[in-house]
Amino acid sequence: MTDALATGRDGAVTNWAGNITFSASELHRPASRAALRSLVAGSRQVRVLGSGHSFNRIADVDGDAVEGGATALVSLAAFEPSVDVDTKARTVRVSGGVRYAELARHVASYGLALPNMASLPHISVAGSVATGTHGSGNENQSLAEVVRSVELMTADGQTCVLSRGDDGFEGAVVSLGALGVVLALTLDLEPLYTVSQHVFGELALDGLDFDAVSAAAYSVSLFTDWRGPRFNQVWLKHRGDATVGFPWAAPVSEPRHPVPGMPAVHCTEQLGVPGSWHERLPHFRAEFTPSSGAELQSEYLLPREHALAALYALDALRAEVAPVLQVCEVRTVAADTQWLSPAHGRDTVALHFTWVPDAKAVLPVVALLEERLAPFTPRPHWGKVFDAGPSELGARYPHAADFAALAGRLDPRGKFRNTFVRSFLRPFLG
Ligand SMILES: Cc1cc2nc3c(=O)[nH]c(=O)nc-3n(C[C@H](O)[C@H](O)[C@H](O)COP(=O)(O)OP(=O)(O)OC[C@H]3O[C@@H](n4cnc5c(N)ncnc54)[C@H](O)[C@@H]3O)c2cc1C
Repeated sequence: MTDALATGRDGAVTNWAGNITFSASELHRPASRAALRSLVAGSRQVRVLGSGHSFNRIADVDGDAVEGGATALVSLAAFEPSVDVDTKARTVRVSGGVRYAELARHVASYGLALPNMASLPHISVAGSVATGTHGSGNENQSLAEVVRSVELMTADGQTCVLSRGDDGFEGAVVSLGALGVVLALTLDLEPLYTVSQHVFGELALDGLDFDAVSAAAYSVSLFTDWRGPRFNQVWLKHRGDATVGFPWAAPVSEPRHPVPGMPAVHCTEQLGVPGSWHERLPHFRAEFTPSSGAELQSEYLLPREHALAALYALDALRAEVAPVLQVCEVRTVAADTQWLSPAHGRDTVALHFTWVPDAKAVLPVVALLEERLAPFTPRPHWGKVFDAGPSELGARYPHAADFAALAGRLDPRGKFRNTFVRSFLRPFLG
């Protein structure tokens, strides 16, 4: 399995985007359960780094040492990599360091499929579900929802398995890495299906029938640079042989990249050519491995009934947003049951922003955006840049206190809690 965690200047470990230099001077890469167990047992604080595609300090440790002992930032890229498909049960067990690209290729080779994928297949499965990562589709839930079982190494080095139906399971998948080391996940599968991808051109915001547009395909993405009151592109991913009727915009005749002007060579095949689900649902090809990204990202998930009002609120901020924006993507996500999923309990519209890589210019715009979106009770993506404080966040998750209780039960001494997690849980930990 590849491990593309970036090593920045001076050998420091950075995230994919390079905007975060992790606070640990060493990244541990245990290759066996025994090595992992002794690392966990011997450290006061432990955080697992997945593929490093988050844009904030969610995965970080609080330095090389904290009160009471050393810390350990751990990569599972070398740890017992495995993808085991059970064709009879129609499930797959995937170990904690594996990425979606490897998982999807393997699952498809058995004639099976996942219901959805994120835009990039290079992200780790454990890290993605830990932050509530999603794709698009009115009927498609977050990637976490197909997880049926989580195998954790807890603070004492023991293994704990939580499965659907167990007390606390709804808190164990979107876990922010706060419950233990995810050694493996078991996911539900379905029979293989094909997807064809069609891209359409300009679509005006004025007169937009958001419900009809977002229902026009299995997965729909609207892209805009907010340089005008319109979307530059609409991507429709149709499942099976569904025919394409999209009366609101004209089809484009050449492959497109979501960012205007960028070459489409790394994008998954478009122009309606059918292909396996895993080669069409992500926007980017698995064969193309972006080692780093000159960008920052933010995303806000809010109740879908507010989609149009929220889009008009963004339109009113075009003058502030457009200068620091590469592209904005609008997707939908079906309500799910995971306590900390940003789509928990509500059919959702997700407003995503790929920013220029300039935090100083971007952060004031992020704060302004959050102020204007506040009436719609947005939940920020856990893995992206946001400004909201712990009390605002906690108030938006009806099960925050249940999650804090689960973390207290599985990890009483808080070995897996860093500053990011502690600040969110503090109001609930008592
Ligand atoms: C180019 C790009 C495209 C993206 N597209 C999408 C998208 O389409 N939809 C979307 O919702 N998001 C998207 N994201 C965001 C991304 O999915 C999340 O940031 C996700 O967390 C990435 O997984 P990771 O393994 O890189 O996470 P990391 O940043 O490495 O870790 C995230 C969290 O998971 C925990 N973790 C990871 N592995 C383990 C483990 N084995 N055990 C315990 N805890 C663990 C970490 O401690 C941390 O808390 C995108 C990001 C990028 C850079």
